[in-house]
Amino acid sequence: MSDCIFCKIVEGSIPSSIVFEDDTVYSFLDINPASKGHFLVIPKKHVEDISELGDTEITAIFSAIRKLTKALPDVLGNTGFNILMNYGKDAGQIISHLHFHIIPRKKEDGLGIAGWNHLKFSGDHLNEIAKEIAEAIK
Ligand code: 5GP
Ligand code: ZN
Repeated sequence: MSDCIFCKIVEGSIPSSIVFEDDTVYSFLDINPASKGHFLVIPKKHVEDISELGDTEITAIFSAIRKLTKALPDVLGNTGFNILMNYGKDAGQIISHLHFHIIPRKKEDGLGIAGWNHLKFSGDHLNEIAKEIAEAIK
């Protein structure tokens, strides 16, 4: 897409700190990282919704994530990481080109990711929601 920053990064017309690429996937450091080594993994093809990707492309993305996250601790000394995809502006998405954030974590790093307030739903209520979702994908 001609006005997409991430497409321009893939094409090379905007510079990026690349960590990995293959035919399908491009991965580079986030310009405003949440932690040292925070990187993004994107399909080279401009898609906005994960449903626009085929199984081969999804496999390529998660294969890159597996490869990179395995190497991270030796480089960064991180003891964990978060994988995050913001989809839709209500979920904090700014760039529409589909991307996964990989955020290296350390003990008590104070990042505030995954520390949300937990709601209490009854078992019956959980089962009702699960049934509706399971039905919707049939
Ligand atoms: P979103 O909120 O859409 O999930 O996150 C988009 C991410 O892209 C942000 O964390 C932001 O720092 C990063 N970003 C935006 N523009 C650029 C850029 O030009 N280069 C790089 N490397 N990262 C960018
Ligand atoms: Zn794009």
